[in-house]
Amino acid sequence: MLGPDQYMLGGVKGTGDFVITGGRIAGPTRVLDDGWVAVTGGLISEVGQGAPPEGPRMDVAGALVVPGFVDTHCHGGGGGSFSSGDPDELALAVRAHRGHGTTTMLASLVSDPVHALCDQIAALRELVQDGEVHGIHLEGPFISHARCGAHDPAALLEPDTATVSTLLNAGRGDIRMVTLAPELHGGVKAVRQLTESGVIAALGHTDGVQEQILPAIDAGATVATHLFNGMRPLHHREPGPVGVLLDDERITVELICDLVHIHPTVVHLAAKHAGKRRTVLITDAMSATDAADGAYRLGRLKVNVSDDFGRYRRARRQHAHHGRSVPQHGARREAGHPGRGARDFGETGRTARHRRPHRLAARGPRGGHRGARRRPAPGQGAAPG
Ligand SMILES: [Zn+2]
Repeated sequence: MLGPDQYMLGGVKGTGDFVITGGRIAGPTRVLDDGWVAVTGGLISEVGQGAPPEGPRMDVAGALVVPGFVDTHCHGGGGGSFSSGDPDELALAVRAHRGHGTTTMLASLVSDPVHALCDQIAALRELVQDGEVHGIHLEGPFISHARCGAHDPAALLEPDTATVSTLLNAGRGDIRMVTLAPELHGGVKAVRQLTESGVIAALGHTDGVQEQILPAIDAGATVATHLFNGMRPLHHREPGPVGVLLDDERITVELICDLVHIHPTVVHLAAKHAGKRRTVLITDAMSATDAADGAYRLGRLKVNVSDDFGRYRRARRQHAHHGRSVPQHGARREAGHPGRGARDFGETGRTARHRRPHRLAARGPRGGHRGARRRPAPGQGAAPG
């Protein structure tokens, strides 16, 4: 856990005020070559170019210095799953994402029986209390059978008031977001219950039509869970969740920007329409992120990872699955797309409700990223999310 005057740089914890020098500083609109960042009391106090102010210096020798990434939707990494309840696995997951520059994250749980979720929430609360993760995101169990994706269909429920309360009580204020399908019986009422409890209601894994999505937004829902994935697709005569959520100024849209879950052109279309203020890039990462190919679990589902791509089998169909990327991969690759710039994309996983003071993450000149991923052939790994 970082104290108020502590910082993390390249995996090393430090203390006190200092100035980062010799780096390329990524600002909101441009990169400052030969820039510097003054850090006071653990927060960025000033950013500039040229001669740095007096004080202890940390020379990062040409590294790209970026604000810490905020990931609002993440199931694990480094071989560790947030659903495991195992402290060692939870720590692995946090460390994996820290290593890629994520300084604030929500730990997401997939659908499971309520008693199992309560146990998982209890284990995650310790991480929240220690400041390792910012809060808990329940993705389900109140989601649509028709759009359940990798969630266990046997664990899905309709959201009655008592069950929602049981889960929120288990979280004791640490559950920050719940993804649900508003067309379920009790869906809109649950949105109201969540928002009145100070929890973000996110709409996702939904087969709802406009008439079912809009009342949930009116009731207080503010987030679209991985827009496009796990929801009824856009149709020109029935906009469905994609059209309604993307077009509504009250909604912040999550995009899995690994360029596998969503085609680059569609990422561009959505980000352009939602704009910087409403677009959030997420990983939706599972435990296999930043780990070797092999067999992993997502909740109770087995996921086989090969060639950097997660797949699971259900009813003899092979499905593309949860993200294995980290936020900057897709954005970096997409930034290289002709005619497009990183500025067209959102604030890399920041939402108004999640906004916190920046912590710093510095990356080497080559960023330490893994190489470009092999993309599945067209038609392979259909029906992502
Ligand atoms: Zn997810």
